[in-house]
Amino acid sequence: MKEFDVLVIGGGVVGSAIARELSKYRVTIGVLEKNPDIINETSGRNSAVIHGGFAYDTGSLKARLCLQGNRGMTKLSEDLDFTFLRCGKVLVGQTEEEYASLERTLAQGKRNGVDTLELIDEKRLHELVPMAVGKFAMFSKDSGIVDPFGYTVALAENAVQNGARYFLRTEVTGIRREGDTWAISTNRGEYKAKWVVNAAGLCCGKISDMLGIKGYKVIGSKGDYIILDKRTGPLLPMPVYPVPSNTYMGIHVTNTVDGNVIIGPNAETVEDFTYYGVPQRNMDYLAKSASDIWPCIRKEDMIRNYSGILPKWVDEQGVIQDFKIEVKEELAPNALNLVGIESPGLTAAVPIAEYAVALMQEHGFAPEKNEDFDPVRKGIRRFDKLSDEEREELVKQDPDYGELICRCEKVTKAEILQAIRNPLGVNTMTGIKYRTRAMMGRCQGGYCQMRIEKLLEEELSLKPEEILYEREGSWVLQGKLR
Ligand SMILES: Cc1cc2nc3c(=O)[nH]c(=O)nc-3n(C[C@H](O)[C@H](O)[C@H](O)COP(=O)(O)OP(=O)(O)OC[C@H]3O[C@@H](n4cnc5c(N)ncnc54)[C@H](O)[C@@H]3O)c2cc1C
Repeated sequence: MKEFDVLVIGGGVVGSAIARELSKYRVTIGVLEKNPDIINETSGRNSAVIHGGFAYDTGSLKARLCLQGNRGMTKLSEDLDFTFLRCGKVLVGQTEEEYASLERTLAQGKRNGVDTLELIDEKRLHELVPMAVGKFAMFSKDSGIVDPFGYTVALAENAVQNGARYFLRTEVTGIRREGDTWAISTNRGEYKAKWVVNAAGLCCGKISDMLGIKGYKVIGSKGDYIILDKRTGPLLPMPVYPVPSNTYMGIHVTNTVDGNVIIGPNAETVEDFTYYGVPQRNMDYLAKSASDIWPCIRKEDMIRNYSGILPKWVDEQGVIQDFKIEVKEELAPNALNLVGIESPGLTAAVPIAEYAVALMQEHGFAPEKNEDFDPVRKGIRRFDKLSDEEREELVKQDPDYGELICRCEKVTKAEILQAIRNPLGVNTMTGIKYRTRAMMGRCQGGYCQMRIEKLLEEELSLKPEEILYEREGSWVLQGKLR
């Protein structure tokens, strides 16, 4: 039995932001995460755009927390050492109706407190993004892009640095109230806590039911993406979006912090929250639609696809609702319940956490401040980002920086070893990939995958057949053939 002051269910960007926020107080914190890594679900499967805050209904939590998240992202990325670029973004249009729609979006943005939006003509659009197609556009100067893996991992590692404990491969299967505490059953035994937090993303409805707060209807909206080779990066200095509808931002093209381009997402309502395959017909549709706003898409540049699923909380009529962040004393005392944390959850994660912990405090959570809280965390030093002089110096200090493991992305043995020794104890192939970019280049691991697998074996004393690619059951090797 493990007992904590607070147990957070779900270690994605929101659960990790909450764990970090809680670590500013003198409390014991456990994070229960069913997957072998914290970025296997929605936090690692999105557009990675730090939204401006103009696209959400005025007065909604989505609008308010998104704007706060956007404003705080520069400082947060400096404190936690992850990559964030405030590169701006354009929404392009062609018709009178689209112009009127952008005027409405801009007005909503102003009401939400976003005062840097501009409607621009074709000439200015082409100065900003030479290859974008549009007669006019709305320019959001404060939008940006982030490394979604580095950001989530940084929040979690900083929480751990400040005392939180993560339990991976630990799935919550039942929750009971026993006197003044919560008893939480998992596949790895029982846990107890004074407070429990539901940050379970796609499983928020299930966990809410387990807590006794029943009736939330959560639907899945699946979005597929194509990733393009870094060759295309220089052609896209900022994300290009079409004019949005009320409920969907549309298929956009987005530059990544590492110089790739991603195309997507479509939006398909799904019941299976575990299927991430991308059918060819969807890839064709994405490429065709995105070509209307950025005609630089060629089949030979497509190196990979992926998808993500948004948990949308809807009412009985199917209308999408705002983020729900609540404490329902009468049904589930000392339980913080988060439902429907869809987009802009990545942008808003830290303000969501601040709002959530303040709500706990309104409901009797009164811990002492942790005067030793350290908001600063250092990530892995990236060899490919350094000058030749800096590289030479680093190799002198640590000869493992002199051995290249991933040739496409120039990732060295030293970086892989730092990733393997990560504070969370992640030991999957994608755990290493998302922390270092090894296997993310043109050859997609053709050259380095087995070398990384070998390093995992050696460093962690694992048998080859114990190593997972990503999720439970995704073994890289299944045994000897001969
Ligand atoms: C296609 C797409 C595009 C998006 N684009 C953007 C964007 O550009 N900008 C933006 O701001 N937002 C975007 N988002 C939204 C954003 O990614 C999410 O809002 C955010 O990642 C939600 O984080 P989370 O921690 O709530 O969820 P998750 O990352 O899903 O974390 C929840 C965790 O709970 C764990 N869990 C679930 N059930 C259990 C259980 N029973 N026991 C233990 N653990 C459990 C899961 O394994 C998971 O790791 C996008 C999302 C999608 C799908």
